[in-house]
Amino acid sequence: MPGLSSLHIAVFPGDGIGVEVMSECIRLLNVLCERDRRLSLVFEHLEAGADLYSRTGTALPDSALDRAARADAILFGAMGLPHIRYADGREVAPQLDLREAFNLYAGVRPVRPIPGLKPVLADERAARIDFVLVRESTEGLFARRQDGRMEGDRTATDVLEVTRGAVEKVSDFAFRLAAGRHSDRRATVTCVDKANVLSSLAFFRKVFDEVAKRHSNAADANHMYVDAAALNFVRRPWDFDVIVTENMFGDILSDLGAALLGGLGLAPSGDIGDDHAVFQPCHGSAPDIMGTGKANPIGMLLSAAMMFDWLAGRHGHDPCREAAADLRGAIDRAFEIGAVLPIELGGTDTASDVTNAIIAELGPKRLR
Ligand code: ATP
Repeated sequence: MPGLSSLHIAVFPGDGIGVEVMSECIRLLNVLCERDRRLSLVFEHLEAGADLYSRTGTALPDSALDRAARADAILFGAMGLPHIRYADGREVAPQLDLREAFNLYAGVRPVRPIPGLKPVLADERAARIDFVLVRESTEGLFARRQDGRMEGDRTATDVLEVTRGAVEKVSDFAFRLAAGRHSDRRATVTCVDKANVLSSLAFFRKVFDEVAKRHSNAADANHMYVDAAALNFVRRPWDFDVIVTENMFGDILSDLGAALLGGLGLAPSGDIGDDHAVFQPCHGSAPDIMGTGKANPIGMLLSAAMMFDWLAGRHGHDPCREAAADLRGAIDRAFEIGAVLPIELGGTDTASDVTNAIIAELGPKRLR
């Protein structure tokens, strides 16, 4: 990378509100670059998604994959539209293909409510909720989705695949993430599984335990069945620190995590591998509100902050580290002073009103 003077960001707006939240995000990222000349981002817009599939028969062109592979990071809106499906009934969702193509094994979904927002749970400990869900994103029940078998019109079978390599990688990632999270206490990584019923998930737990031993000087480890985890997401979510889990369990629990934040539109994510990373909000294309201005862009903007953190960690690049902190600070302040309340949360602010309020809170850059 040429002295990190410019970072090349591949941008997949995708479908539905993905396009809308992405354009707000790019507008805000350009403001970040204008206020700090040390930060330079070059965006390359790439087409993929259900709409592209309906026009061309291809959801994720190889050419777009090749270009994204050469980028420093990838931003992603949302993909999929319920009325555009493959012949077997599955939705066109190339984000799964992207995760597999780039081996983005760690789906990182932080659950930290924005301080200025009224907590969803009445318990006063809800203000302390701060955990990270790490979803194994390359295998599990979703990986063999093209191998589902139908026997006549009577039986349908899918395959849940768990490999030692992927569980080692995602568990190791979770422990490394946990080790850097607290300066005042030991971290805890919870393996969420269904090891009491499925041999594949008993194996997931066994491999997790082996990895946990290697990290025992830095973090504690425990286990929870996924049904108990769903209960505890509502009953005592402040007790979680880092969670690692199978692909589909992670998909479901991350929506529950978004509900703890206040809404799907608030939840960010990063799909991270050894060489590439994709940052996208947790929500889908939300065709019910597409084109209305009601899309909340906060999850997208917080995903961009995660991108800056990742780039900073990878390249030791201070302007990226500061951009992440400045962006999160501006979002927190905008909510704290009541400058913003998205329509999703009962307010009147459209996607562009929300972005404008955050840009106003960013203010001029103060060099550190
Ligand atoms: P997918 O399976 O592709 O993740 P989904 O079925 O979970 O998608 P979404 O498209 O995420 O569905 O939408 C679920 C609900 O949440 C919809 O009612 C939608 O309007 C709402 N929603 C999702 N994202 C946002 C957002 N950014 N702002 C406001 N509302 C949203």
